[in-house]
This record gives sequence, structure tokens and C-alpha cells, in this order.
Amino acid sequence: MTKINNSQVVYAMDAANEAVMKVPSGSEVIFETCDCFQNQITSESQSVDSVNWEQINPATGPLYVEGAAPGDVLKVEIIDITIADQGVMAAIPGAGLLGDQVTASQIKVMPIENGMARFNDKLSLPVTPTIGVIGVAPKSGAIPCGAPGSHGGNMDNNKTKTGSILYLPVRAEGALLSMGDLHALIGDGEIMVTGLEVAGSVTVRVSVLKDRKQQNPMLENDTHLYTVASDEDLLKAVRAATENMHQWVMAETGLSFNEAGMLLSAAGSTEICQVVDPLLTARFGLSKDILKALQ
Ligand code: CA
Ligand code: CA
Repeated sequence: MTKINNSQVVYAMDAANEAVMKVPSGSEVIFETCDCFQNQITSESQSVDSVNWEQINPATGPLYVEGAAPGDVLKVEIIDITIADQGVMAAIPGAGLLGDQVTASQIKVMPIENGMARFNDKLSLPVTPTIGVIGVAPKSGAIPCGAPGSHGGNMDNNKTKTGSILYLPVRAEGALLSMGDLHALIGDGEIMVTGLEVAGSVTVRVSVLKDRKQQNPMLENDTHLYTVASDEDLLKAVRAATENMHQWVMAETGLSFNEAGMLLSAAGSTEICQVVDPLLTARFGLSKDILKALQ
């Protein structure tokens, strides 16, 4: 199968980036990815100061999908995610929600074996591989891979995993899909700025949708549909994700403004992806069974 090597990375999503591969809509592609430190950290004896911060959040790509044009939506089916056999975390003064109280930096390396990440002698945690950074090129300018936005990017959405389908609004010819920043584990919020950061590879199927319109990323899995939005202000991100879902429900079901709002108020789910990146990311979830019942 077609594969993009993890030496082919970008540090910003940009319509001016040269595509490393072109494929037709409907193709399956493997993205081999570095961890968010570009695999610079391999042991706990390393200092955080040894990290070259110019090489942070590399995203493998970009992939040009033939036929994708501004105004379309790129459907990204996540077929498989495999991860390396150890992951890395860091505590860094000034970074994250507790950063003002972190007095010394620390690297933590967690071995991963048989689907379990070893936190310490007493605790191993079952891993759930997810994609932290995945997005398309914006219409103009360069957005660092460390930032989320309406193009996707560093959403750190732990619903972005095997079996999920991500829908990204296309802004540039060919979409220019890139991804990286896999996590073996990441909690809602990612409060210390790292999840369990891990190298790996992602198999996706990419398809161009001409009849779907979106302002922001959406995601679905077996049970739920999610809208995803990012903003400097978390409440504004929540509001944008909520409005996106509200509009979707009205369009799909024919419910009135008030009825759709009451439905989301009764049965919707306001959730947080991350609260530590340059913009904060929220998602709004709704059961697909509810949508099916109303269609
Ligand atoms: Ca991230
Ligand atoms: Ca990360």
C-alpha cells in the first residue's frame, strides 16, 4: 500500500507546501509518524533542555487528494493506528494548566507491551491510540502544526481513533492532508501539554465529498457524531461546536430552531478536547441513534 515516510514532515499547514504524494479520491494511504518531539527523547535521563524546539509537532505529509477543491469536505476514514513500544511524557515549568507550579522539568518514558502502558510498578494503563494533529492546509498563510483551527490541526481529540471518520473542510486545492502527534494515551484536556506521546503509523482512506458543507471539523464513530471547534476562549469554542451541531441537526431532521436546541440541551454532550494549545478545542457530541430516529 502507498506509504508516506516519517522523514517527510511539515511544521506548519500551508497551501504553499509541496505535496509529497498525489492520490485519487478513495485511496488508502499509510502515514508513518514521529512523536511530537520528532523522536528526540528516548530515555528519562535526557534533559528537556536537550530538545530542539524547532522540531516540535512534525506532521507527516502533505498528501494531495485529486479533485479536492476549496468548499469540499475531505472524508478521512481511520482504518488502523499502530504505535511504537514506548511513549514519552514531559512536565515542563510554565507549560499547561499546572505549569506555574511545576518547579523542575521531568521526562517520563513509559514502556508499552501487550496494549498496556506501564505508568509505574503499581499501575499499567490500557492504551487507546489516537491522532493529536491531523488537518488540511488553510486557504492562505501558514498555521503551525501545534495550533488547532477550522482546518483541523492540533485538536488533540481523543475520539480521533481507529474506526472513526473525520470530516475536514477543504480550503486549498488537493486538501493537503498531514498528520502526526499520536498518543498512546491522552485524557480530555491534556492538562500537562503532553499525552503519552508515541511514534507510529496511521492507515487512512481519503475521499472527496462535493455535496457536504462544513465550517469546522466533524467526526463520527459507531455511536456518535461530533462537531469540533477551537478558539482562544474555551466558551467561544464550546459555542461554535454547539452552533455547528445545532445547524446540522436542523438541516438533517427539519426540526425548528427551538426544538433542535431543546434536543441538544436534553441529550447532547459538551466535551473538551484540549485546554493547553494556542487555541482551546471543544467538541459537541450527539448520539447517531437520535438523528436516525428523526430522519
Ligand atoms: Ca497535541
Ligand atoms: Ca501530543
